Amino acid sequence: MHVFFAAIGTETNTFSPLPTSLASFKDRDYYPAGTHPGKPTFLSAPLHILRERCAERGWALSEGMIAAAQPSGITTREAYETLRDELLADLTKAMPVDMVVLGMHGAMVADGYDDCEGDVLERVRAIVGPKIVVGAELDLHAHLSPLMVAQANVLVLYKEYPHTDILARAKELVDLCIATYEKKITPVAALVDCHMITPIHTTREPGASVVKRLQSFEGQNGILSVSVAHGFATGDVPEMGTKVLVYSDADQIGAQTLARQLADELIAMRESLRVPYRTIDEALDEALNSPVGPVVLADRADNPGSGAVGDGTFMLQRCLERKIDNAAIGPFWDPVAARIAFDAGVGANLMMRLGGKIGPLSGQPVDVRCTVKALKREMSMTSLSGGQTPLGDCALVDAAGIEIVLTSNRNQAMNIDLFTQLGCDIAKKKIVIVKSAQHFYASFSTIAKQVIYVGGKGVATPDWKTLTYNKIRRPKWPLDE
Ligand SMILES: [Zn+2]
Repeated sequence: MHVFFAAIGTETNTFSPLPTSLASFKDRDYYPAGTHPGKPTFLSAPLHILRERCAERGWALSEGMIAAAQPSGITTREAYETLRDELLADLTKAMPVDMVVLGMHGAMVADGYDDCEGDVLERVRAIVGPKIVVGAELDLHAHLSPLMVAQANVLVLYKEYPHTDILARAKELVDLCIATYEKKITPVAALVDCHMITPIHTTREPGASVVKRLQSFEGQNGILSVSVAHGFATGDVPEMGTKVLVYSDADQIGAQTLARQLADELIAMRESLRVPYRTIDEALDEALNSPVGPVVLADRADNPGSGAVGDGTFMLQRCLERKIDNAAIGPFWDPVAARIAFDAGVGANLMMRLGGKIGPLSGQPVDVRCTVKALKREMSMTSLSGGQTPLGDCALVDAAGIEIVLTSNRNQAMNIDLFTQLGCDIAKKKIVIVKSAQHFYASFSTIAKQVIYVGGKGVATPDWKTLTYNKIRRPKWPLDE
């Protein structure tokens, strides 16, 4: 028995002004075959399960390339084709194999490729042939295409948002692949398009019950796996949208019936799943009126985890205009300002120009007097899967009572240690503004007295009606009634 694993992916915001290049992958996670470390990175969760399973059984495991980039704009053709071909070359070199498991995102878009994961799976299938088991773990923000489903035996998507279940879903995927290889099951798939976009926050109702409902079918009546792709609205490709994917054990009608039923349930409850976004001033008013702090404000529109830039100044600017202090903001991507803070040194007091550098949706740069409070080289933040994600050289500066974490690498807020390791005690702040849509929640909810979702201006705006779509299939709720 010989298993092959590799990973390739990113989440592409097709409206983002930042191209995703080979350097973007090398800045985040790029491990040539056989060089991946012991701790999980962005897309490597199934590998860690495979290492255990193969060791238990005495099976051979070939570890191919693992490449993942921070979400940004469209991946260059050179970057995609270079990495894809490296992955395929690793597989070809490993042949013959009995099973292929891949880590992918599902919403990677490259110049000339609207469905990168479908392309990878199709090429992998062409190499291994129709009889070899091929499985992949995907993010629930995948544009789940019929091509992906057709080329794989099993696809398992994360169920939780924030994605706290990456390792749990990887384990399910690997175990389904092994059971398929051992001919204990024959997965057959049904994919139903809900013709809508419905991000489901699973940290509160009714989203939390959606996860329990999906899981209640798994392992019953021949149902093997149930996944829901929420729809990633800032990816303008034909397959974008909410979809239900059900695998049953050799029962096509059973899979189709359940997928249709769950799709109808999601359509019926979509209004109740809407995220309650506030304007910047509404959010600041609500936070200031809260009797206790900290109140965590999620700057969803400038979430680098959705491909936004992370140097947006709309919220910082408004806090300064309103003379709000005892606040913190992070992570704020500005490698030039971070470099200046390092040059000035801890304790320096100087005029700084912060953010607003990449495009109109970043806002205007903010000129403000800052005190450099702390500096840390090659800082990293704990990720949702428990690994470390690099933020580069980071500086904590105080701008009129607002402590700002300046980072050299773009990333979203996933753990409070992005603040605390620089000595910023966010538990004592009145307001904490994070650049994140929802992944902040798992960690920041441990200190937050209240969480407010802010839908301001930015590359990852939740106001999708302001986006000019060219490729998605219409009608699609809530863009169309
Ligand atoms: Zn996601």
